[in-house]
Amino acid sequence: MINNTMKNYGNNRSVIRDLFEFGNQRKAVVGADNVFDFSLGNPNVPAPAKVNETISELLDSRNDIYLHGYTSAQGDAACREAVVNDLNKRFGTAFRKENLYMTCGAAASLKIVLTALYTPGDEVVVFTPYFPEYRVFIETTGAYVRECACDPDTFQIDFEALESAVNFQTKSVIVNSPNNPSGVVYTEESIQRLGAFLQERAEAYGHPIYLITDEPYRELVYDDIKVPFVTKYYTDTIVCYSYSKSLALPGERIGYVLVPDDVTDSTDVYAAVCGAGRALGYVCAPSLMQHVIEKCTGLVSDLDEYKEKRDLIYNALTDMGFTCIHPDGAFYLFVKSPVKDAGAFSEKAKEFDLLLVPADSFGTPGYVRIAYCVATDMIRRSLPAFEKLAAFYNK
Ligand code: PLP
Repeated sequence: MINNTMKNYGNNRSVIRDLFEFGNQRKAVVGADNVFDFSLGNPNVPAPAKVNETISELLDSRNDIYLHGYTSAQGDAACREAVVNDLNKRFGTAFRKENLYMTCGAAASLKIVLTALYTPGDEVVVFTPYFPEYRVFIETTGAYVRECACDPDTFQIDFEALESAVNFQTKSVIVNSPNNPSGVVYTEESIQRLGAFLQERAEAYGHPIYLITDEPYRELVYDDIKVPFVTKYYTDTIVCYSYSKSLALPGERIGYVLVPDDVTDSTDVYAAVCGAGRALGYVCAPSLMQHVIEKCTGLVSDLDEYKEKRDLIYNALTDMGFTCIHPDGAFYLFVKSPVKDAGAFSEKAKEFDLLLVPADSFGTPGYVRIAYCVATDMIRRSLPAFEKLAAFYNK
C-alpha cells in the first residue's frame, strides 16, 4: 500500500517545474539562446568570491575526515556562534547560539517549524501571493491553510482581510518579505501594525500566535529600502532563513531556524524544533557548508547586478504597456495578465518562447511571475519576444 497523499504530491509536479522541463525540451529543438526561461528562482549572480575561496581553503587546509563528518544535530557550535554574532551586530539583538538550529535551507526550516508547532485542526494564515510549497508543508502537518489576500494595488498587508482571517484556531501567521512572487517588501508600518494586532488577538484568545518569518530574500533589496527585522517588532517571532538566495547557494542546502529567548515557551519550542528535525530526518545540515557559513556570515551577492536586471525588465515591460508591481526586493517581477486566465497568457507567451509562471498556485490568479535572476543579456534578447506578446494583446 502507498500513501496516496504523497503519491499525488509526487505525480503533480509544481507548475514551475513543469515550465522548466518544457524549457529544456524546447532548448533541444530551437537552441538554448532562443528560449527565454524566467521560470525558476535559481540565482545567476554568483556568490561573493570569498565563498568559493573559503571552500578551497577548507579543502586544502583541513585534511581531517571530520570536515565532511556529522556535526551536532542542531549544527556546529562555531557556525551557530558566528551566525548569531553577525545578526547581533547587524540588528542590535542578543541572540545566543542556543537559539539557532542549522537546516538544509528555508524549505527544511519551514517544514521543521510547522511540524514543531502544529497539531491537526490548527490554522495558519498565509498572505496571498505566497510560495506554493507552503500548502504542502502545512497540510502534511494536518493544519489548515487560511489564505488572506493582500491589498490588490500595493500587495501590502490588508488589515481588514487579516481581521477576518485570524481566529481562535490560528496558531501562526507566515510572512515572506521581500516576497516571492510579488517582490514587495512589507513596510515598517505594516510590520508594526501586524505585531500589535497579533499581540491583541493572542491576549484575547489566551494563547500565543507565532509569527513565522520566511526570509530567504532578506538582504536582496534595492535602492534605499530597509527590511524590518521582525523579531524587534513582535516577540513571538520565529525566523526561517536560507543562504540559497543571498549567497547564491540553493543547491548546497543551508539555512537556519532562529527561536529567540523571548518567544513564549521558547525552551519548549526549541526542543520541538530539535524533535521535528529528528522526526523528519533533517538533523545535521551539510557540514562543509556550515564551515563555509562560519567564515562568510554577512556577505551578499552583488546587489547592483540584480538591480540592473530589475530596472531593465521592469522599465521595458511597463513601457510596453504591461501592468507590473514595482519590486523593491527579491528577484521576481509580478505582472498582471492582460486576460483573466493567467494560464492562457502563459501558454500564449510560450509561443514566443517566453516561460512565465502563472500565479494561480501562489493564491493570486490573474498574474504571472517572471524570475529575473537570469543573465542580463538574456533579458535584453527576450525583449523583442515580449514586444510581440504585447502586440498580440494590443491588436
Ligand atoms: N521560501 C520562499 C519564499 C522561497 O522563494 C523559497 C525558494 O525559492 C524557499 C522558501 C525555499 O528555499 P530553500 O531553497 O532555501 O529551501
